[in-house]
Amino acid sequence: MASGSYRNGGPKPTSKLDRLPPSTAYSTPKPSAKPRPSAAPVPRRGGSVAPAAASAGKAGGDAGVPGRVRVAVRLRPRNAEETIADADFADCVELQPELKRLKLRKNNWESETYEFDEVLTEFASQKRVYEVVAKPVVESVLEGYNGTVMAYGQTGTGKTYTLGRLGEEDTAARGIMVRAMEDILADTSPETDSVSVSYLQLYMESIQDLLVPANDNIAIIEDPKTGDVSLPGATSVDIRDQKSFMELLRLGEVHRFAANTKLNTESSRSHAILIVHVKRSLKGRHDADHGFPSENGTNSTLVKSFRPPIVRKSKLVVVDLAGSERIDKSGSEGHTLEEAKSINLSLSALGKCINALAENSPHVPVRDSKLTRLLRDSFGGSARTSLVVTIGPSPRHRGETASTIMFGQRAMKVENMVKLKEEFDYKSLCRRLDIELDKLMAENERQRKDFEDEIERIRTEADSRVAEVEKGYNNTLENERLKYQQDNMDSIKKVEEKWMANVNRARVEHQSACLEKAPTTSSSADIVEVRQLLENEKILRQSTEEVVMNLKCEISHWKRLEAAGNSEIVKLRKMLDSEANQKHKLEEEIAILRSQLLQLSFQADETSRSLDRGESGKALTGFDSLVPQARHPQLRDSANGPKASIAKLFEQVGLQKILSLLESEDHDVRVHAVKVVANLAAEEANQDKIVEAGGLTSLLMLLRNSEDETIRRVAAGAIANLAMNETNQELIMAQGGIVLLSMTAADAEDPQTLRMVAGAIANLCGNDKLQMKLSVEGGIKALLGMVTCGHPDVLAQVARGIANFAKCESRASTQGNKVGVSLLIEDGALPWIVKNANHDASPIRRHIELALCHLAQHEVNAKDMISEGALWELVRISRDCSREDIRMLAHRTLISSATLRTELRRLHIEF
Ligand code: ADP
Ligand code: MG
Repeated sequence: MASGSYRNGGPKPTSKLDRLPPSTAYSTPKPSAKPRPSAAPVPRRGGSVAPAAASAGKAGGDAGVPGRVRVAVRLRPRNAEETIADADFADCVELQPELKRLKLRKNNWESETYEFDEVLTEFASQKRVYEVVAKPVVESVLEGYNGTVMAYGQTGTGKTYTLGRLGEEDTAARGIMVRAMEDILADTSPETDSVSVSYLQLYMESIQDLLVPANDNIAIIEDPKTGDVSLPGATSVDIRDQKSFMELLRLGEVHRFAANTKLNTESSRSHAILIVHVKRSLKGRHDADHGFPSENGTNSTLVKSFRPPIVRKSKLVVVDLAGSERIDKSGSEGHTLEEAKSINLSLSALGKCINALAENSPHVPVRDSKLTRLLRDSFGGSARTSLVVTIGPSPRHRGETASTIMFGQRAMKVENMVKLKEEFDYKSLCRRLDIELDKLMAENERQRKDFEDEIERIRTEADSRVAEVEKGYNNTLENERLKYQQDNMDSIKKVEEKWMANVNRARVEHQSACLEKAPTTSSSADIVEVRQLLENEKILRQSTEEVVMNLKCEISHWKRLEAAGNSEIVKLRKMLDSEANQKHKLEEEIAILRSQLLQLSFQADETSRSLDRGESGKALTGFDSLVPQARHPQLRDSANGPKASIAKLFEQVGLQKILSLLESEDHDVRVHAVKVVANLAAEEANQDKIVEAGGLTSLLMLLRNSEDETIRRVAAGAIANLAMNETNQELIMAQGGIVLLSMTAADAEDPQTLRMVAGAIANLCGNDKLQMKLSVEGGIKALLGMVTCGHPDVLAQVARGIANFAKCESRASTQGNKVGVSLLIEDGALPWIVKNANHDASPIRRHIELALCHLAQHEVNAKDMISEGALWELVRISRDCSREDIRMLAHRTLISSATLRTELRRLHIEF
C-alpha cells in the first residue's frame, strides 16, 4: 500500500485543511528530498508557509489541526504452544485485509465485524507494517510536526516485536524504531540538522532513564503557556549514524525491567518510550522567496533583513505500552498486584483521554497519569498519532483480544466504528410496537388532560356567569322590592295623610255645614287621585314582572349552556374509554407476539435437535459449545436466528422471570425453562448475568432435586457451558458441583446426559487452582466411571478432561507447585488411558496422546508409566502418530526422561 493512503489528518469539517486541495494538505517530502535550500516554499497546513510562524517569534508553530488517531490491527501467528493446545480450535479472529475488516468470533455461531484503518495479517512483513503504521508519521515528523507511534495489546501479542526488534540477525525483521531512525537519518544532514534520542521507561508511575538507569524518577515539566511537555532530567544523546542508535537501543533493552508472568516469560510490565528530537535548520529561506506578507499585509524589507535563521523542532515518540491483560489472568500476586494497578492506572487513563479526544469532550483528563501527561502533546494539537493494536489468534484469550479491539475502535472514534450484524431483528419489532404504544399512551394522556382542562374551564366560566347573573337578578329584585315597598309606604302614607286631612276637613266642614249645610265636592276629587295612584302602581308592578321574566329567560339560557358542557364531558369520557380499549388490545397483541417468539425459540430448539439427530444420531440441546467448533457449520447457521431470538426474549422477559420458572409446579414449564437457560448459557455474553442472578445455584439444585432425566441432562449441559469460565469453575466447585455431577452421572440412562456431565467436569479439569479439590471430591473417578457406557461422545469428553488435567498438573510440576506422582495415576486413570491411547476415534485418541506426553514429562510418573505399559504407547505415538507436532512432542519427552531412556535401553529398543 502506498504510504500516502494511511495518514493522519482526516480533516475535521471545520478545520482550515478543508480549504486546501488534498494534494497540498497531505503532501509529504520523500525521504530522498533533502531539505530545504532556498527553493520553493513548503506548503503548510492551514495555508501558511513556515516563516509565518517565525515572524510571530516561534518557528514551526502552525495552527495545529488535530488529526484522527489512525489505528491498525496486527495479528500474531500461532506460536508453538498454541499450535498444540488449540489444535482442535479455530482462531478467535478472521481477517479480511482487503476490506480492512476483522471478524471476532463471539461464539460458535456468531461473529462481530470491525473496521480498522489497516488490517495486518499474521503474514504481514515488518517492512509493510512500518510503511503502513509508522512511515507517514515519520515523514510528518521530518516536516516539522510532532508524531507518535504506539503499540497496545495483551502481553505476548507482538508489541515489542512490532516496535523494538533490532533485526541484527535478519534485517527483514527490523522493527519500527530501527526503520524510523533509518528514514530520519536519510532525510537529515549533520551540517544543518540535529537528531537526538532519549529512551525511557515508565514503571509504577515513575519515569526511569533507560540510558542511565541511576537516573530515576524523572520529572515531567509542562510549559504553562504552550502546554508543551519536556523531560529536562532525561539523558539525550545526539545520533549521527544508525550504528550508535542501535547501540543505544541495545543498552536500553538490557536495562528494561520485565516482570515475568505466567502468560509469557518475557512479558513486560513497563511502558517503554523512545523520544527522537529532530531539529532542522531552514537557513537561506527568505520571506521574499515566499512572498510572505508582514503583519500589516505588505512585504516589509525591514522585517525581511532582520529575520533570524529558522529552526524547525519536532519529535517522534514511540511507545511500547505494557501488556493490557487483566490482572486476574496473568496470575500476578503481591508486589505485582501493585504493579498491575499502576500499569492499569496509566493504561486506563490513556483510554479515557482517547475517548475524550475522540468525542470532542471539553475536558481531557491528561493529568490522571504520568503516561497521559507525557503523551499530552502527542494527542491533539499538531501531532500525528498512529496506533497499532496487536492481538493473538488463540480462542482462549478471546476476552483480552476483544478488549484490545475495542480500545482500537475507540481510538478511531466511536462513531466511525462499522459493525455488521445480519439477523432477523424481532426485538426491534417489539421495540417498535412498544414505542408506538408509548406514543399512543402519551398522546392519549395529553388529550385527556387537555379535555379535562377545557371542561374545567367551561364549568368555571359557566358557574361564574350563572353566579353573576343570579347575583344581578337578586340585586335587581331586591332593589325593585325595596323601591316598591318604599313607593307603597309613601303612597299609603300620602293616602293616610290625605284621608286624615279629608277627615279633618270633613269634620270642620260638617261642623260648618251643620252650620251652613255646605256641599262635599273636594272629597270626590281625592278619590279620583287615589285611583290614579293605584293605576300607576299597577303599571309599575307589570314592568317589574317583565324584568323578572327576562332574568328567568337568561338563567334558563345559562342552564342550557351548562347541559351542553356536560354532554361534551360525557363524549370525552367515551373517547377516553375507547383509547383505553385500544391500548388494552395493543397490549394483548404484544403478549401474543411474545408468546409466538417463545414458541418459535422452542421450535428452533427442537429443529436443531432433530437435525442433529438426523445427522449423527446424537441429541443436542443447543449448547453446542461442548462440540468442537469446526463441527456442524450448517446446523449452527440454521440455529443462529432462533438463538438470537432467545437472546431477545431473554432481554424482554427478564432473566429473573426465566430463572423463577425453573421452580415452576408445571413439569413442562420447568423443561422449557431449563432449555431456555441452557441456550442462554451457551452465549458467553450471558454467562455472567446468569451466574449473578443465581442461575448457577438453581441449575445445581435441579441436578440435586429433579426426578426427570431430561431436566438433569439439560441442566448439566448449561453447567458445562458456564464452566468454561474460570470464576464460574470455582463457584461450581464451591457449591459441591462435583458431587452433584457425579450423582447425575450415576443415575443417567441417556448417554447424552453423561456427555454433558463429562463435558462439565472436563472444563473444570482445565483450572490450575482446582486440581487437588477435583481429585479429592472424586471428579476424576466420576469421569472414569462414565467410560463404561462406551459412547464415543462421552469418551471424547472424558479424554478431554484427562488431557486438561494432565496439562495443568504438568504446568504446576514445572513451576514447582506440585510434587509427587500425578493425581491421575493415583486415581487409577492410567489403565484406561493406556487402553484407549490408540482409539479409533481421533478426538479421543488425540486427547489421550497429549495426556500421555504431559504425564511422561515428569520423572515421578515414569515408574508407573513403565509398569502400566504407557511407555509402549509413547513409543508408538513417537513413531506412528499422524500429527507431526504430537509425534515430535512424544519423541522429545522420551529422550528427555532419564528413567524412560534407561528402560528403553534395557529392553534394547532403538530410539
Ligand atoms: P509483547 O511485546 O506484546 O509482549 P512480543 O513482541 O514479546 O510481545 O512477542 C511475543 C512473542 O511472539 C515473541 O517471541 C515474538 O518473537 C513473537 N511474535 C510476535 N509477533 C510476531 C509476528 N508477527 N511474527 C512472528 N513472531 C511474532
Ligand atoms: Mg513487549
